[in-house]
This record gives sequence, C-alpha cells and structure tokens, in this order.
Amino acid sequence: MPVERVETLIIGGGQAGLAMSHRLKQRGRAHLVLERHRIAERWRSERWDGLRFQFPNWSVRLPDFPFAHADPDGFATGGEIAEFIAAYAAFIAAPVRCGVNVAALRYRDGAPGFAAETSDGVIEADHVVVATGPYQRAMIPAWLREDAGIFQLHASRYRNPGQLPPGAVLVIGSGASGAQIAEELLRAGRRVYLSVGRHRRMPRRYRGRDLIWWLDAMGLLQRPTEQRGPDRSLPLITGAFGGDTIDFRRFAAEGVTLLGRMEAADGGVIDFAPDLAEQLAYGDASYAIFLDMMDAHVEQYGLEMPQDPDARAGLPDPPRPPEPLRRLDLRAAGIAAVIWATGYRFDFGWIHVPVLNAQGEPVHVRGITGVPGMYFLGLQWLSKLNSSLLSGVGEDAADLADHIAART
Ligand SMILES: Cc1cc2nc3c(=O)[nH]c(=O)nc-3n(C[C@H](O)[C@H](O)[C@H](O)COP(=O)(O)OP(=O)(O)OC[C@H]3O[C@@H](n4cnc5c(N)ncnc54)[C@H](O)[C@@H]3O)c2cc1C
Repeated sequence: MPVERVETLIIGGGQAGLAMSHRLKQRGRAHLVLERHRIAERWRSERWDGLRFQFPNWSVRLPDFPFAHADPDGFATGGEIAEFIAAYAAFIAAPVRCGVNVAALRYRDGAPGFAAETSDGVIEADHVVVATGPYQRAMIPAWLREDAGIFQLHASRYRNPGQLPPGAVLVIGSGASGAQIAEELLRAGRRVYLSVGRHRRMPRRYRGRDLIWWLDAMGLLQRPTEQRGPDRSLPLITGAFGGDTIDFRRFAAEGVTLLGRMEAADGGVIDFAPDLAEQLAYGDASYAIFLDMMDAHVEQYGLEMPQDPDARAGLPDPPRPPEPLRRLDLRAAGIAAVIWATGYRFDFGWIHVPVLNAQGEPVHVRGITGVPGMYFLGLQWLSKLNSSLLSGVGEDAADLADHIAART
C-alpha cells in the first residue's frame, strides 16, 4: 500500500487539534487532523448529562469564532459545547478524518520525520502535533475490587442519577467533578457521602462579577507556567444549577455526609483519613486569599464595585458524629454505588519517539519538545493557566504554527 505523506499531522479532533488546524491554515501550511472517534468526542461521551460548562457564555470562544447564545450569564450544556466545537470545525473547514486511531508514532525509517501507524494505514509527516487532551485515561485507585460487589464507575462514565442502582452513593474526590456530581445526586434525592481531599474553592461571583471576569481582569488566565504555584489542585467551580459557589459546609448542611480522604479499602469496608477539618480549612483559606486578591485589585485600580459582605459569611463546621467517621461499611450504610472522581492520567504509551519522561509525561517547553518537529498542544499549563481551556488553546496553537512555519 502506498504510504500517505503530509506536512503536519495533528492527532486529536478536540478543541486543541482544531485550533491547531485553524492556525496552520491561516499560515498556508498543509496538514491533516486524525480523530479516532468523532469531533469533540470527550464532550459527547465522557461528560455527564447535567454538566454545565464552567465558564459563562459571554466568555466562550474559539479563535475567530464566538459562541452564539441567548443568555450571556448562562452556562452551556456539554452537548452545546460539542456542537459549538463541531460548528468551529465546519467554519474553518478543517481537514479532519474521523474514526482513525493512531496506534503508534515512530521516527520514519531512514529519513527525517515521523510515521504514524493508524487504523487506516501508515501516514508520514514532517511535523506532528499531539492534541489528544489534558484528561486522557480515567484514574481509579485499585482499592475497591470489582468482586466487592459494588456498582462503581469513574466520573467520565457517570451520566445521571438514574444510571445508578437505588440507594446511597459514595463519591470519592472533591474536585469540580466530584463536587458537581455529589450536588446533582443530592438534588435528585440520593443520600450522598463525599470523600473530601485537597481542593481550591473559588467564588462563582464576587462584587457583581463572575469569576472568569476576575481571572481575566487580574491577568490570571494568562499567568505563565513559570509562575505556577506549588498547589496542583484545580479550581473548584461549577456552572450547574445556574452556577453557584461550591461550599462543602453548605453541602453538609443540606445532608451530604463529608468524609476525609479515602485511605484504604478491604472488601466493602473503606477507611478514611482523620483530615476532613484540615481539608475544609485549606479550601476556605484559598477562597479567602482569592477574595483578598480581588479586593486588592479593586483598590489598586480604583474600580467602582459594590461591596459583597455575603461572600465572606462563613457557614458553621459540618455536624459530626461523636467520633469522626473513619470507617464506612458500604453495605451497612446502604451505599449502592461508588463514583470515582479521582482524576485522569496521561496515556502516551503509543508514542515511541523520545519526548516522554520516565513517568510517561511529555517533556516540552510551551509545547515544543526536544525532538525537532514534535509538539504537544492542549495540556494543562502548556504555557499558561488557560492553555488547556477553550478560551486559551488558540494562542498556544498560533505559537506552534509559527514554529512549524519557520521550520519549513
Ligand atoms: C469534567 C470536565 C469538565 C471540563 N469543563 C471545562 C470547562 O467548563 N471549560 C473549559 O475550558 N475546559 C473544561 N474542561 C477541560 C478541557 O476543556 C476539556 O478537557 C477539553 O476537552 C480539552 O480539549 P482538547 O482538544 O485538548 O482534548 P480532548 O477534548 O480530550 O480531545 C482530544 C481528542 O483526541 C482524540 N484522540 C485521543 N487519542 C487519539 C489517538 N491515538 N488517535 C486519534 N485520536 C485520538 C480523542 O478521541 C479526543 O476527541 C473540562 C474537563 C473535564 C474532564
């Protein structure tokens, strides 16, 4: 079979791969995008029905392509975001081939460049941009064996409360996914247990403006990777139910049983660390620090913004049993399902070009690897805070497109 050749091969047909296509097209560079399933697949099959985009509609955009909406302050559904990304692909007339998986990427035999082994044959390229997502493979600790007889799934497979067997639900993980799923289940009338870990709480709105307005105004969306602090936890925000500030103390007041971090499991019995108070205090402290930063910004620039005393009104500590709940027997507690909101890991085992470290993570500077012609796009903090976000990926794509154009 003749081997196909392209100048630049983009792997992944999500927002990052398409933004890359757009930027290369603007520079007149030939390229091809391969997507193993459908455009914006993860927004179609790895997000739950009730998920709302965490950025208000007014802020949603891709390069040269704003999001059409009726309510600027509303939060789009996952389906609307998938359609938006698909519409963007049509708008830029991206050369995308869907249903083509890249199973391996290697150096070309005896010539510069790369060879991608795909489900549709080998494709050779001078440049490769890997845009397969910041959240690739569901991470589930091997604590609760399948044979524990408990219905369990990762947040990426959760769809809606009706998918779960009747009974209480234990949600492990208190990032945005865990918090949002716990709230959704509570509102659906489920008894909910939530294992809380390190989290960074942020206000949905403050002094009359949405968080995204603040992040933009304070230049934080553009904060470069070099200035990233030691805290790796992702901000805890939600666009669900109209968008509200997540406060685990409110969850507790509404009936959620909060637990410390999960430590171990034996059969259907789970142990939790005695660190709930510490985790809540950390979340509260990061929230208070952020309010202080916003107030300082108002003062520094002499902005006229209303005061917001409610934002600082704290709720009491959650009610506790006489002894902190350190051990939970799932069956005895009537827990019928466990949802692992425990994050994602990379899945780059198919890349056989030396661009990964011993942990399988890409080694790069602003997406440019040490192997000439190899690039990554769309990763968390690729160059700045919003690199992996819809609103930020286009700028990184432009930089990589410039780099590629300069090489050819
Ligand atoms: C629960 C959740 C909520 C989020 N909410 C927001 C939000 O509100 N706002 C926001 O800005 N960001 C949000 N994000 C983060 C981010 O925007 C999304 O993860 C987004 O999907 C990243 O886009 P991407 O194009 O970089 O990667 P992806 O959307 O992951 O796209 C990568 C594509 O590559 C394809 N692919 C993978 N491997 C191969 C291969 N070997 N061969 C061919 N194709 C391949 C996949 O099928 C996929 O379509 C959220 C993430 C999660 C998990």
